Amino acid sequence: MAQASLRIDIDAILANWRALDALSGTATETGAVVKANSYGLGAARIGRALARAGARKFFVASAEEGAALRQALGEGPEIFVFSGHMAGDTEMIGDLGLTPMLNSLDQVTRHFEALPGCPFGVQLDTGMNRLGMESAEWQAVAPIVLGSEPRLIMSHLACSDDPEHPMNARQLAEFRYMTDGLDVPRSLSATGGLLLGPEYHFDVTRPGIGLYGGLPFERARPVVQLSLPVVQIREVPAGETVGYSNAFEAETDCRIATVSAGYADGLHRTLGGRATLWAGDIPCPVVGRISMDLITVDVSHLPEAPKTLDILGPHQGPDDLADVAGTIGYEILTSLGARYQRQYVEGTA
Ligand SMILES: *Cc1c(COP(=O)(O)O)cnc(C)c1O
Repeated sequence: MAQASLRIDIDAILANWRALDALSGTATETGAVVKANSYGLGAARIGRALARAGARKFFVASAEEGAALRQALGEGPEIFVFSGHMAGDTEMIGDLGLTPMLNSLDQVTRHFEALPGCPFGVQLDTGMNRLGMESAEWQAVAPIVLGSEPRLIMSHLACSDDPEHPMNARQLAEFRYMTDGLDVPRSLSATGGLLLGPEYHFDVTRPGIGLYGGLPFERARPVVQLSLPVVQIREVPAGETVGYSNAFEAETDCRIATVSAGYADGLHRTLGGRATLWAGDIPCPVVGRISMDLITVDVSHLPEAPKTLDILGPHQGPDDLADVAGTIGYEILTSLGARYQRQYVEGTA
């Protein structure tokens, strides 16, 4: 089988959720961000496992994601939609009981006219300039919405992966200025903010990447292992070249394994000639370009012909691979392709 296998450790995700939950006091509820199909790993399966473990608040990017998640979770858990209530979302939000985080006066008006009495939250912008109402707009809108019991008021930190960044305290102060004294549950922090300490926790936290084993949650348990099947192994004499544009030329006789996966599976072309795959504990350098469906790897030094080589696993997590590719672990995970066979490990803990 030339299909690569992506092993997803649900027990590790649950352990990460519990570890993050333990960082805040009992007055703070730990939610779970499962947008972008749980960062590429499978929101239905992961959402159900988290709900069984006790998560009651889930966050997605769009109403469509919320609709799919509701099918998986059934009634009960709250599903918050970061993009709020867009034109065309009304039926999904109403029928499936989603909670839009209203981002503007326009969205407030749309929601109150289309779905009066239906749950909603409010998103404030405290300096990131991306999503949510700023102070002046909020002051105008607050008298309208506060009487209707918003489920949550939230904002998002721009620099929380850097604990020393002065932006964190500035946004915290702005959030408090905009929300202190209101009788509404508050949420400011994703994974990074959760790690900044108690004054950032408020009533609800919203970790995403930390659940999936990524930085800035350094103590996270690794979650993914991606094993690529070896399709063919050949001897390449010194002087011959490998792959597109002859990008690699053998200086000595070597043995090259061709594995099944490529940039169409989210393994970025920038990994060509730079990344390392692993045969168990032994590193094997990628040689030549990354093709759409294939990668070539120098396995001259291996005692035996490998059946598979790992590009993500115990020796190389998403953040390590991201360093090589010049990106972040989030992008490595969310790029993981649709062609992988996703295998879930659950119930072994
Ligand atoms: C993606 C996102 C999160 C989760 O962020 P992580 O850094 O993955 O923990 C939380 N809140 C909002 C608004 C987001 O967009």
